[in-house]
Amino acid sequence: MKHEKIAQPGKSVASWSDEPVDAPSDIHDLATEIMNIMEQGILVWSKDGICELHNTRIFDVLELSGGDLQIGAEREEFRDRALARGEMSEEDRRMSQAQIRAHQPYSFDRHLPSGRVVLTSGRPARGGGYVVTFTDVTEARRAAREIAKAKQDAEDAELRAREVLASERARQNEARMLGQLDEWLQSCKSLNELYMIVSRFMERLLPGSKGELYIYSNSRDALDGVCNWNTIDLHQSIAADSCWALRRGRAYEYESDGLCFVCDHVEAHNHGVDTNEYICVPIVAHGDTVGLMHMRFDHASDGAAHVRDSAQFAVRCGEHISMAIANVKLRDELHDQSIRDPLTGLYNRRYFMDAIRREISMSDRRGRTFGLISFDADKFKNFNDNHGHDAGDMVLRAIGTRLQEVMNNGETACRFGGEEFAVLVPEASLEKTVDLAETLRDAIAATQVRYLDGPLPRVTISAGVSSYPNCGNTPQALLKRADEALYRAKEDGRNCVRTASAKKAGRAKAEKT
Ligand code: GH3
Ligand code: MG
Ligand code: MG
Repeated sequence: MKHEKIAQPGKSVASWSDEPVDAPSDIHDLATEIMNIMEQGILVWSKDGICELHNTRIFDVLELSGGDLQIGAEREEFRDRALARGEMSEEDRRMSQAQIRAHQPYSFDRHLPSGRVVLTSGRPARGGGYVVTFTDVTEARRAAREIAKAKQDAEDAELRAREVLASERARQNEARMLGQLDEWLQSCKSLNELYMIVSRFMERLLPGSKGELYIYSNSRDALDGVCNWNTIDLHQSIAADSCWALRRGRAYEYESDGLCFVCDHVEAHNHGVDTNEYICVPIVAHGDTVGLMHMRFDHASDGAAHVRDSAQFAVRCGEHISMAIANVKLRDELHDQSIRDPLTGLYNRRYFMDAIRREISMSDRRGRTFGLISFDADKFKNFNDNHGHDAGDMVLRAIGTRLQEVMNNGETACRFGGEEFAVLVPEASLEKTVDLAETLRDAIAATQVRYLDGPLPRVTISAGVSSYPNCGNTPQALLKRADEALYRAKEDGRNCVRTASAKKAGRAKAEKT
């Protein structure tokens, strides 16, 4: 008979339909007992998908009530209930159906509404049926999840540690490179040397970048291109208002996909091509904006992989370059202050004496002569008394300007102090130096200075000229001879040039030793 017994929770029934029960009934009972004490739920489907047998444990494992499963129940119904309760997925259903059609084993996890997980494993049985076991694997799955999570956590932690390490290495690398840059920049003697070092260093520090450096011209209405790297682009000059960084007073990063505007000086290079990402960094020295560093990034190149963020690194490079420019400028200014007269901008006495010393050794090496002019404003005390010290200062400044206009051949001009000046004329004979002194005297005599509302009276000069080596072999001797000639010019009525006579050979030798 088929399905003659119905299983109840706690009481199992075993029935192999259409198969004669050969085993003695005590063995059959023993098998039933064993099935019922097993931890797993067990269910046997016939070839046609009809429940032939199950143990009582199945009700606990699958959280079923007595009416949910009976001998004679259909597999499709049993599955539909599991689907409706969300215990199994459509995919698992399709997979198990396909396996059953192919007489192959199958297995999947059921997720019961209570949260428990039941491994469902079907294996083909004799006669085309299937034996299915239901094993509570909640704990095993939880443990596996925890192990997987612990493994993932460990991998994440390792990744983070690697990132921190890589970032720390990049930071150390940046610091080392910036340290090297600083070292070189600090030993720069001039701004031109500094620009050369900047371009050489930047092409190494950020190989994937193209860059240009601009510095304000003296007039400050434009910036001059001073150096570039990894590119041939460099404007000779750009207007200050053509750059958003200069207009906004801080670094400006252009991103092609952001809401950004391209600087005019960049647009001018683009020739209609799309603009890549770039950054403009103002170069600020002692609080004053002195220039602009412009850098474009080529992301196809991984040349900057050793730094963390190219744009940020560019800003840091800009800061170091700013500092170096500030230092060189300060050094230049201090040096300038130490060698120049503040009223006229001409060199001072100390520098001038050094210049004569250098010219003497140069002339000795090349067998050349040079000339020296010493001149003094005539009756300048009267001028000051009549027109005031400020007017006198303006005239002294005008003499300095005139002097620089007249010089054209590498001459060195100096204000000794007061209304006394001197000029070193390299590679010149006494006659040529006298000519220059006369030109200078004429030019100053013709100079009209305006002060307040009207013109000041013209001022004249008297000059004395000496030459090397005829008049002396030391700076002091040459100046003394030029001054003696200057006194004679004063004695002879002023506004004239007088020449020192050549010294005797014996005296020149004594002076030099
Ligand atoms: P001489 O033709 O003989 O050179 O007569 P002098 O009046 O020019 O000569 P003196 O040496 O008696 O006077 C020089 C004057 O130059 C004295 C001072 O009033 C003036 N002086 C010196 N230094 C300055 C300066 O820096 N500014 C102005 N405004 N005047 C100066
Ligand atoms: Mg004087
Ligand atoms: Mg004078």
